[in-house]
Amino acid sequence: MLDRTYDSQACSMARSLEVVGERWTLLILRDIFLGVRKFEDLHRSLGVARNILQTRLELLTKEGVVEKRPYQEGRYEYCLTSKGRELWPALMALLRWGDRHYAPHGRPRLIKHRDCGGEVTEHLTCEKCGKSLTLQDVYWEWGPGAKEWEKQKRRRARRSSTTKAKAVTGRKRAA
Ligand SMILES: [Zn+2]
Repeated sequence: MLDRTYDSQACSMARSLEVVGERWTLLILRDIFLGVRKFEDLHRSLGVARNILQTRLELLTKEGVVEKRPYQEGRYEYCLTSKGRELWPALMALLRWGDRHYAPHGRPRLIKHRDCGGEVTEHLTCEKCGKSLTLQDVYWEWGPGAKEWEKQKRRRARRSSTTKAKAVTGRKRAA
């Protein structure tokens, strides 16, 4: 098993990765950034196993990146602390990098300026009006790449159900 920590590294990037570098963590943060805050909603939105979601959220809470806030008797939502909000530029940089290099069918998700609908650049300015933007100034919507991605997902699901059906038929024949 791989070590969870980077003890041999004298580097702040290694320390950061110990908190946000585990699988799913950045995607959990992305969703919280985009307004998904309840455990059940995060679970549904990400399709991640509940125990993984739980341990990631616990670490993020322990590290003060997110905080649990009650919204009802005994129910909590996860909100970003100011330390957590500082990760927004890093997340935007990753998103735009992926858009450039790994979005052959167009960008799946667009982050936009509430006031004018312009897109957010990785320098956190608005492409259209040039304003510097904070997290409160933006919203998101599906982009042109999302449709193609959905299509491929459906195709994959169909293919795997056909394979499963074949496997079942095969077993029947063998028996
Ligand atoms: Zn704008």
